Amino acid sequence: TALRLDGKRVLITGASRGIGADIARTFAAAGARLLLSGRDRRTLETLADTVDAETEVLVADLSSPEGPTVLADEAVGVYDGIDVLVNNAGISYPEAVDALDTAHFDQVLQVNLRAPSLLAARVGRSMAESGGGSIITVASAAALRPLPEHYAYCTSKAGIIMATKILALELGGRGVRANSICPTVVLTDMGQKVWGDPVKSAPMLGRIPAGRFAVPSEVSNTALWLASDASAMINGVDLPVDGGYLVS
Ligand code: NDP
Repeated sequence: TALRLDGKRVLITGASRGIGADIARTFAAAGARLLLSGRDRRTLETLADTVDAETEVLVADLSSPEGPTVLADEAVGVYDGIDVLVNNAGISYPEAVDALDTAHFDQVLQVNLRAPSLLAARVGRSMAESGGGSIITVASAAALRPLPEHYAYCTSKAGIIMATKILALELGGRGVRANSICPTVVLTDMGQKVWGDPVKSAPMLGRIPAGRFAVPSEVSNTALWLASDASAMINGVDLPVDGGYLVS
C-alpha cells in the first residue's frame, strides 16, 4: 500500500527550492496539509499554487536568534498543532580550514544547527503535549564522514544529528519520533555549487557504489516514510541515502 499522510499538518523549512520543494510536492500528493517556510514569500506562494493541498506560507529568516521560535509558534497556530516537522533548510560555504571566515562559520552554525535545534525543541514540545509527531532532520552524509573544505558544514550536520537523537530520547515516551536523513550529493543549487564541476565530482562519484549522486525524490520518499505511521518503531536513527557511500 502507498504511504499516506492524509490530514497530517507538516511544517517544511527550506521549502522554496531543491530538496525542500520536492518534499513539499511529495507530501502534498500523499494528502498532507502544508506549512511552507523560507525567506522569499513569492517563491513559496508560487510553489503553493502548484500543489494540490491545503497550504500556508510562513516567511522566516532562520539565521536570526528569534527566527526559529517565532516560526514555531506561528506554525503551531495555523492548523492548531503540527504532526510532522521537516527541518530541511541549510547552507554551506565551502572553504579550506586555513581560509576559514568567521562570519561564514557563524552563519552555517546558525542556519544548520541552532535554528533546527530550537525549532525542533519548540515544535517537539507542542507535539508531545498533543499526543506525538515525527521530526525529520535533513542532515547529510557529510555529518558521518569528514569532507575537505566543509569544516563548518560537517560540524553543523554532526551536531544536528546529535540534537535529533536527544529529542528522540527525551520526547520518545510522549509519542514524538525524531530521525535524521543523511543524503549524499544531490544536484540542487547547493549541490551544483560544490559538485557541479565534473572534474571535482569524479573522485566523489568514484566512492559511491551506486555510481551516481542521489536525486531529490530519493530524499523525499525517505522523508515520507519517516513521516508516516509505517515507520512507527523508528526513532533516533541517522539514515544514509547515499548509494553505499558510507560503506565504501
Ligand atoms: P538549496 O540551496 O537548494 O535550498 C536551501 C533552502 O534553505 C532554500 O529553500 C532556502 O530558502 C533555505 N534557507 C537558506 N538559508 C535560510 C535562512 N537563513 N532562513 C531560512 N531558510 C533558509 O539546498 P538543498 O535543497 O540542496 O538542501 C536542503 C538540505 O539538504 C540542506 O539542509 C542541505 O544541507 C541538505 N543536504 C543537501 C545535499 C546536497 O548535495 N544538495 C546533500 C546532503 C544534505 P530561501 O533561500 O528561499 O530563503
